[in-house]
Amino acid sequence: MATNTNLFADKETNNWIKASLALNVTKQGFTNFLDTELQNVHANVGKSCGNCPIEKLIPCPTKPHCSKRTRKYCPFHKSQRPQPCPTCDNVKQNIILQHRYGGPSWRNTRAEKWTHDYWEIGKCFLPPDGYSSVSSVQESDFNGVISIMLNCKHFQTCLSSTCLSPPPPNNQCPLEKVRQIGRDVRHTADCKVTDADLQDYFQTLSTLLADPICLQHDSFAMTACTRLRDLQNDRNSVQELGELLKESHQTLTHATEAGERISQEAKRTLSKAMQKLDAAIKCGEQRLKRETEVGEQRIESKTHIGEERIGSKTQHGEQLIENKARDAELCIERTVQNAIMRMNETSQIDYERGVADRFHRQPSSLDTPRPFNSECGISVVAAIYLHRQPMG
Ligand SMILES: [Zn+2]
Ligand SMILES: [Zn+2]
Repeated sequence: MATNTNLFADKETNNWIKASLALNVTKQGFTNFLDTELQNVHANVGKSCGNCPIEKLIPCPTKPHCSKRTRKYCPFHKSQRPQPCPTCDNVKQNIILQHRYGGPSWRNTRAEKWTHDYWEIGKCFLPPDGYSSVSSVQESDFNGVISIMLNCKHFQTCLSSTCLSPPPPNNQCPLEKVRQIGRDVRHTADCKVTDADLQDYFQTLSTLLADPICLQHDSFAMTACTRLRDLQNDRNSVQELGELLKESHQTLTHATEAGERISQEAKRTLSKAMQKLDAAIKCGEQRLKRETEVGEQRIESKTHIGEERIGSKTQHGEQLIENKARDAELCIERTVQNAIMRMNETSQIDYERGVADRFHRQPSSLDTPRPFNSECGISVVAAIYLHRQPMG
């Protein structure tokens, strides 16, 4: 059952809801691409020893990761003192080289997992705070996903040059513009988006998802493009809309927990949208139930009428057959009686003719005609009649 996203009376509020959902759909479209490319980055930065935590690999003090409040105490290095490890330092240097601004987000990553977990490398390219507990690309939000693509220089090789030209952090850079859409939607004061802005969002997000270098052939990105078109044209199912709303609401909740300044109005509006959709679903279910009940009653009464009709037609039919059978019996009986009578008459005439002949010729006892045995004629015709009678 298709539905539309117009849960609110205000058009621009509905536009904002669509924009929020579009961001989540777009993020999902990037997950497979990001997973694949981060595995390539992981392979390129080399193997670490697998024992060193990140605190050990960062000298103290290093801004902005650790800020020594007093000469003796650093909250970042409280459990682990810096200690050189050539193997891990090499990986660390390669990560720095891959970072567009040379400043990986060390606080997000667990360096002891660098050997086997490409996501721990990917986390170095996320915004500096709020992502340490995010355990996969899928769990990451729109802002995180776009930040990795902007901050990790490897993505220059798997996106069209137009996506990164002019290069970040220029606000005219198309990928920077995409990140800004996310910020505008999350930090909104009034949860309203104009028609023109919404069309521009859909256009920008779809263009990026259909980038010809890799994404055009990525099934996740292709699905996301379709879902964006559905969203734009109000073709989502109720279930899909419900899921999207829930995901968008969770995204905002996570972002708030991660310390991002999320508009309270945004969370309120998404909650309200979920409630409205729930109410619409319940109303639809009740209507369906009512319609089913009415349908069942109708079928039952029609069946009853049908049974009665069949019953009366059967009786009528039986009566007709009985009448016809009786008529047929009478007709046969009459025919048989007529035949017997005709036979008897014919025999009588023959007998009389025989007697007359005998008087004309010389009389002889051998010639005496025998009277016609009418009983014999009757039994023959009766046998035919019984044999042919089909009904009991
Ligand atoms: Zn090490
Ligand atoms: Zn420190």
